[in-house]
Amino acid sequence: MPDRFGDRLAALVGDRHLQRGEAVDERYRKDLTGKYATAPGWAVRAESTAEVSAIMRMAHEAGIPVTVIGGQSGTSGAAVPSDGGLALSLERMNKVHAIDTLSMTMDVEAGCILQVAQEFAEAQGAFLPLDLGARGSAMIGGTIGTNAGGNRVVRWGMMRDMVIGLEAVLADGTVVSSLTKMLKDNAGYHWKHLLIGSEGTLGIVTRAVLRLRPLPTTRQTALIAAPSFEQMIRVMRRLEVSLSGQLSSFELMWADFYAAMTEAQLPSRPRPMANGYGIYALVEAMGGNAALDGQMFEQALAALMEEGLLSDAVIAQSDQQREALWAVREDLSPGFTPRRPFTAYDVSMAIADMPAFVDLALANLKQAAPDATALFYGHAGDGNLHANVSNGRMDAEIKQAFDLAIYRAVSDLGGSISAEHGIGIDRLPYIGMTRTPEELDLMRTLKHAIDPRGILNPGKVFTMDAQ
Ligand SMILES: Cc1cc2nc3c(=O)[nH]c(=O)nc-3n(C[C@H](O)[C@H](O)[C@H](O)COP(=O)(O)OP(=O)(O)OC[C@H]3O[C@@H](n4cnc5c(N)ncnc54)[C@H](O)[C@@H]3O)c2cc1C
Repeated sequence: MPDRFGDRLAALVGDRHLQRGEAVDERYRKDLTGKYATAPGWAVRAESTAEVSAIMRMAHEAGIPVTVIGGQSGTSGAAVPSDGGLALSLERMNKVHAIDTLSMTMDVEAGCILQVAQEFAEAQGAFLPLDLGARGSAMIGGTIGTNAGGNRVVRWGMMRDMVIGLEAVLADGTVVSSLTKMLKDNAGYHWKHLLIGSEGTLGIVTRAVLRLRPLPTTRQTALIAAPSFEQMIRVMRRLEVSLSGQLSSFELMWADFYAAMTEAQLPSRPRPMANGYGIYALVEAMGGNAALDGQMFEQALAALMEEGLLSDAVIAQSDQQREALWAVREDLSPGFTPRRPFTAYDVSMAIADMPAFVDLALANLKQAAPDATALFYGHAGDGNLHANVSNGRMDAEIKQAFDLAIYRAVSDLGGSISAEHGIGIDRLPYIGMTRTPEELDLMRTLKHAIDPRGILNPGKVFTMDAQ
């Protein structure tokens, strides 16, 4: 069969950067979970914005669906291409063009890996605060496409707060560019905010200007435990003040999560603190005064212990100890592997509603399957909570029962069904549980106006027909 579209792509990017049909590599077909394996017609690695624009013009003309692939670190199927569609990778567009240490900005291409961008900034005495467990694989484009949050939202916000300028290619190949370093700009609509978090359905981000900060020179890390959730959040609010604005991370771990993770890590790492406290958190402060910051951190925690708000605290005394504390929260594989098969949720709600959510979710899960168990942990900074749910089996029926158990609890509390990995394919049937019909209609109107042929990542986030 002649492949005229493929031949035109090959003429543009060269045979080396095009894969066709069955030759399309696995990493362009699947996300991290491997749940949705598809059969794209082509995978292409673009080298420049001009190439992305030409590719989109061709796809638009031919009505071929295009999914932009980032680091595939998402788990909702958001970056899985359509059958017979085009998988567009920006991995070759990975340059850091410039770092401006006066304006504190970084001009970076969308295919740059987050950790590479962080290290580039640090080499110039600047700091890109966005940080998450998938830092070694997630790309700048993917973190913009999902409005990523992560470990430091409590102080510096999420990706939406860091994108100053943006360049993107629209469905018909039009390049829209505002690679400005300006922080405040009230001239009309901020179209960049439409694209941030839109999961590749409204445009392809090709380059961005990100906001940097001066590189902190001190870092204090502690594992803390409190008798109850409410006391732990009071601790966070107190530290926001007593650490004079240096509080940078506050990662919550429910007691069962802490016990399971530390138990599984025991052969290689001793448990840093006893089991059995009400709730745990990993706390980090970043500052600039080597003589005083450590002392301020210790004193703040000691005062909270004296008042009885904290039950226990372990402060890292070296980089090695810091890594060991972070591993309790980030080295999830030893603790989660024995729970396979499981379903992972990333929901959000007002911080004060988190305990009610946990109670409600557990009650709903027990109704769905009496042997269901769930481990809870999350980022207090953005009200983002993970639930890892398992009962030893995972077929479509039990998965749907768990989905409904979790999303009903979120919906009852006015929360959101996704705070990290997006809606993708996985959560598409449930978006109406936390978005109103009017909101969904507005989304459809915007999508139709910007992508009238519906070629950008179709079948993700919402359907074009009102249900
Ligand atoms: C261990 C681990 C920890 C994580 N921790 C966090 C966390 O703390 N906070 C958090 O928010 N997320 C977290 N995530 C989820 C995930 O890493 C983020 O969603 C990340 O932003 C995805 O980036 P990616 O490059 O892998 O994108 P992909 O997964 O490849 O794509 C995600 C979506 O973005 C779209 N996209 C990709 N590139 C572009 C582009 N150039 N233009 C427009 N759209 C694009 C894709 O089409 C897709 O819809 C974590 C994941 C893992 C595995």
